[in-house]
Amino acid sequence: MLPWYVIPAVAVAFAAGWWLARWLSARRSGAAVNELSSDYFRGLNYLLNEEQDKAIEVFLRLAEYNRDTVETHLALGNLFRRRGEVDRAIRLHQHLVSRPDLSEPMKTVALLELGEDYMRAGLLDRAEALFCDLVALDAHAPSALRHLISIYQHERDWHQAIEHARRLEAMTGEDQTPIMAQFYCELAERSRQHGAKVEAREYLDQAFACQRDCVRAWMLTGRIEADAGNHAKAVDAYEAAVAADVAFVPEILPPLLDSYARSAQMERAERFLRGLLERYHGVSPVLALTHLYAERDGKHAAVDFLTAQLRRRPSVRGLMALIDATMDSIQGEARDNFLILRDLTKKLLEGQAMYRCSRCGFGAKAHHWQCPSCKSWSTIRPIHGVANE
Ligand SMILES: [Zn+2]
Repeated sequence: MLPWYVIPAVAVAFAAGWWLARWLSARRSGAAVNELSSDYFRGLNYLLNEEQDKAIEVFLRLAEYNRDTVETHLALGNLFRRRGEVDRAIRLHQHLVSRPDLSEPMKTVALLELGEDYMRAGLLDRAEALFCDLVALDAHAPSALRHLISIYQHERDWHQAIEHARRLEAMTGEDQTPIMAQFYCELAERSRQHGAKVEAREYLDQAFACQRDCVRAWMLTGRIEADAGNHAKAVDAYEAAVAADVAFVPEILPPLLDSYARSAQMERAERFLRGLLERYHGVSPVLALTHLYAERDGKHAAVDFLTAQLRRRPSVRGLMALIDATMDSIQGEARDNFLILRDLTKKLLEGQAMYRCSRCGFGAKAHHWQCPSCKSWSTIRPIHGVANE
């Protein structure tokens, strides 16, 4: 797999190379060919070295040799957009599209590029209209559909996003069900917030139809049951969420523990958390059990349990809990030192990103279902480490 920044450069180089070969076969007059080919390779070199200013200069000169060359203009437009000169890219592509001599295949390529310019400029209505036209023409339809799906996500128009994901799946055979499950969860969450519980449950059914083990749909089911006071059912749903994806334990445990308590199922809570210790290596179940033992068996039992666990899995959050639990029994100068230690530990935790996107590496303090940086779904996960989960 090529790094992302090489791909457009390679595409540009490919287009320029193809055009150059055609131009060379049409015109074999020595001097001009040599000059042109040296220009071309210099431009290519600049591109590969990420010196886009110089590359643009060279390709502009190449375009001057033959004003009819569509490929060079496309390469230039692509470069302008990548450099953030969106207005220039738009003007260039609009000019190309309006040329009466342009072949239909080249025109659709230029339209696709123009749509990407509009997206970059934030002119989403224009981009949407253009991509819809391309889909209707069945020209570059998969690319146009992908752009449309990202526009509808940006506009939070989940019905349209689902509709176009279905079309993309039908057209390309690529599985779109995990992303469609997320769109249905967005609709369910919106309905839940508006108090439309029946509608929310219907959207969750659709999410499960797309992805049986959708952890987010199980968590939302738990939330809706808990809101309605059905805490036993909420417990079932939250436990199913852990079974669907154990990585989300830090998100699931707080509401799950609340529902255990409200449905008077603390023995079941202890069994579940004990089982979790075996197959999950984060600190959240340890902290939950510490709290449970403190309530049931008193502070000493809780501190003994926590100390034993921290020897097996060192954790700053565990240390913080231990300091809090032992603070009351310490007096005098030792207590002052403990307060300093507590303060430092707190500061250490405050500076930590608790979540990271497995796709792009974006770090976050709170959980997001869609990565704010690369826009992937379900890729932001709790970080496991001494200072995190
Ligand atoms: Zn990301």
